[in-house]
Amino acid sequence: MGLRSPAVDPRRAVPSVDRVVDALSAAPGERLPPAILTQCARDAVDAARAAAGLGAPVDVEAVIADATARSTRLARGLLRRVINATGVIVHTNLGRSPIGSDTFDSARGVATGYSNLEYQLETGDRGSRHAHAGALLARACGAEAGIVVNNNAAAVLLALGALARGREVVVSRGELVEIGGGFRVPEIMAESGCRLVEVGTTNRTRIDDYREQLRMDTALLLKVHASNYRMIGFTESTPVAQLASLGPPVMVDAGSGLLDDTTPWLPHRPAWLHDEPGVRQALDAGAAVVTFSGDKLLGGPQAGIVVGQAELIATIARHPLARAVRADKVTLAELQHVALAYLDGDATTLPLWRMATTPTDTLRSRAAAMAASVPQARVIDIESVVGGGSLPGFTIPSIGVATEVGSVERMLANLRDADVVARAADGCVVADLRTVHPDDDARLGAMLRSARAEP
Ligand SMILES: *Cc1c(COP(=O)(O)O)cnc(C)c1O
Repeated sequence: MGLRSPAVDPRRAVPSVDRVVDALSAAPGERLPPAILTQCARDAVDAARAAAGLGAPVDVEAVIADATARSTRLARGLLRRVINATGVIVHTNLGRSPIGSDTFDSARGVATGYSNLEYQLETGDRGSRHAHAGALLARACGAEAGIVVNNNAAAVLLALGALARGREVVVSRGELVEIGGGFRVPEIMAESGCRLVEVGTTNRTRIDDYREQLRMDTALLLKVHASNYRMIGFTESTPVAQLASLGPPVMVDAGSGLLDDTTPWLPHRPAWLHDEPGVRQALDAGAAVVTFSGDKLLGGPQAGIVVGQAELIATIARHPLARAVRADKVTLAELQHVALAYLDGDATTLPLWRMATTPTDTLRSRAAAMAASVPQARVIDIESVVGGGSLPGFTIPSIGVATEVGSVERMLANLRDADVVARAADGCVVADLRTVHPDDDARLGAMLRSARAEP
């Protein structure tokens, strides 16, 4: 009678965490901190141990491959640069407006050292961070004063909280909109502590609708740019100039941040801007305060800007929330550079306006050069959009490289693996060159070639 060997626990064949970490550290590719590699190794080892406990065979290479897949997924998820070949210029998911490298360089000195952020070099006294970009942006749109905060949602919240807390704010039912990712006008108003008074109907609101709701307690008349939707047909809204004649201060949430609808910073006003309202025009029509985003049609960093009457801006700046939503020095330095470009009368140095106004002929020759190097590719006429909830339904003529391929979905996934975001149209993969920096053309061409060939 032979001795039966004691049953060997299959879990003992699972490699140690250290062994897997060593394999991960030796692998080529992006370096992640040891603590993260250890976590990936531990997760893979735990999973293998659990499977072995249920009787699955243990394969050391498979455990290492699982840990590698986990760390690769983590590394891929790190914030990184991508090529935007979607043709959506202010692409919220891809970071809205790119910052120009000269704008970034001008902020570098401020960001990497100390600065006169809140210090007056002339007197040695304490200064205000609103004296820089806020004041320059106010000047660029003809306002008395301005203040910069975290984003436009914060700007609206702060302005309402500071100017209308506990009092009534009258707004048209046609303007109680939701702007992407959870900015709902009625909810922001509730958070700010003011009382919403709805007037008119979804499609028509007249000046008498506002007039009938005026009370001693009316703090503001609010006008919200619908931004991301457009009503056509039997519609009527009350212009700022008429609202301003009613008495209470008028606050305008302009959204996009088009500083002046005559675009004096461009050689010609682009037709695709249609009737997008300008901040300057709202002020000229009598708005007391106007809020807008820094990273939509202004072409700057994420920020919210409030411009208007000096007294109201001072009230806003004093409110406790102003401290909670204030902009940091890097944003302020970048916005200062952007404001100076507008004041200089040439905003084509900003990537947003450069991309938006590149002639289709220029795009066509770039596309022709690119298409020549990609099998089954051709140059096509397409339409770009501004995006970011601006100018819905309006497009900018553009040029793309369309590639015919067996599986469009597969090729788009291959491109994403190479940090390229393109779009599908008419059974092709389309790269819209309007949103691609010319410096990236060679890389994009190479990626289209390899993403098309890969299974
Ligand atoms: C985009 C937009 C907002 C939100 O601005 P953020 O800068 O994204 O916070 C608010 N109101 C209007 C009208 C907008 O278009």
